[in-house]
Amino acid sequence: MNAFLARLFFGKVEFQENEEYLEFRFKFLAIVLFSGALFTLIFLVGAYSNVNPITGGHLRSMSLFTLLAAALWIFLRGHKKRYFVIAWIYEIACLLEYVSAMLLVPEDELRLLWFYTNIPGVYILLGQRIGLAISLSTIVGLALGNAQLPHPYSENAIATALVSMTYLTLFFHVFGARSFYYYTRMRDANRRLLQMATHDMLTGILNARAYYERCDALINLSRRAQTPFAVLFIDLDHFKSINDNHGHAAGDIVLKSIAECLRSGIRQSDALGRIGGEEFSIFLPNTDINGACQLAEVLRRAIEACMPDIGSQRLKVTPSIGVAGGTGARDIMRDIQKRADEAMYAAKAAGRNRVTCLDAPTPITDAQISLEARTA
Ligand code: GH3
Ligand code: MG
Ligand code: MG
Repeated sequence: MNAFLARLFFGKVEFQENEEYLEFRFKFLAIVLFSGALFTLIFLVGAYSNVNPITGGHLRSMSLFTLLAAALWIFLRGHKKRYFVIAWIYEIACLLEYVSAMLLVPEDELRLLWFYTNIPGVYILLGQRIGLAISLSTIVGLALGNAQLPHPYSENAIATALVSMTYLTLFFHVFGARSFYYYTRMRDANRRLLQMATHDMLTGILNARAYYERCDALINLSRRAQTPFAVLFIDLDHFKSINDNHGHAAGDIVLKSIAECLRSGIRQSDALGRIGGEEFSIFLPNTDINGACQLAEVLRRAIEACMPDIGSQRLKVTPSIGVAGGTGARDIMRDIQKRADEAMYAAKAAGRNRVTCLDAPTPITDAQISLEARTA
């Protein structure tokens, strides 16, 4: 469907990645409401021009139905949160409309077929349980109500209708349940694949590729908002000796603990990635170089205090952290990360376990070191 038609039918509405099923149902409902209003309108035009012999009460109920379907469509456009309320109202309106046809249009022998079309509709719009409940209620209602109709169907005809309607319900129930099962399995498998493709297996934080992608997006946002941002490059000191002295498994435990320590020390809106073996990078949107240097010092101390438990003992780990700021004007991630690298190597050269800030206009004091001190 092209963009113009999509906007016309559905309004301005966006769905998240985890809302594919809602998106399908929302669009289905919008089209059903539109076509429901259109088709009954055609019937009405036929009736008013004497092509269609409908008169009296059912003509009024059809007019009402047309207006209601059109109003619901307009009310639904652009509002995904209204989906369930509108789906319910429409379902009830349809059932009333079909009952009206049963009571008021005896010359139409096939009016019973509307109850058939309702079965797939209710399953799609309102799901398995409600689909089953409404379909079975319809079958029971027809079984008990046929004799009360002004013009009842013959026993033979109603028995055939009820048995075939039960079959249709059964088919839809089984088919719907299987389809939904396969859909959820595929969705979960896709989520797992996406998680594996974008996250580091050991620490659970972003891998280098996903991290840099996130940084590019955040830089674009900062450019538009003209807000400052900064990058922290964190390299653990003498990490090789941890592997050499305590084994690779102990090294892995240390990496996991440090990643967790970094994760709990930053905001949700910051990006954290493992960009090398024992190298981490943090992108801080909306943060100037001063705030970034203060946070780097907070994190340095947190890592020092973390003391990962490798089973036999707790190890003291220290980092060297380089900080570089961006202005949002012309920076690209590669350049700013390069400057953060240089700052980190300067920290190594100056004796390790320290923070080096490029372009920090004011020296950092203990009093300044607090997360709250970062620019909001
Ligand atoms: P420096 O203070 O100069 O940074 O020294 P370093 O020992 O930390 O630096 P170097 O780059 O020499 O060593 C990094 C080590 O990190 C080497 C590598 O075996 C180890 N490493 C990389 N990835 C992993 C991993 O996934 N698990 C473990 N256990 N070790 C890793
Ligand atoms: Mg390194
Ligand atoms: Mg290192």
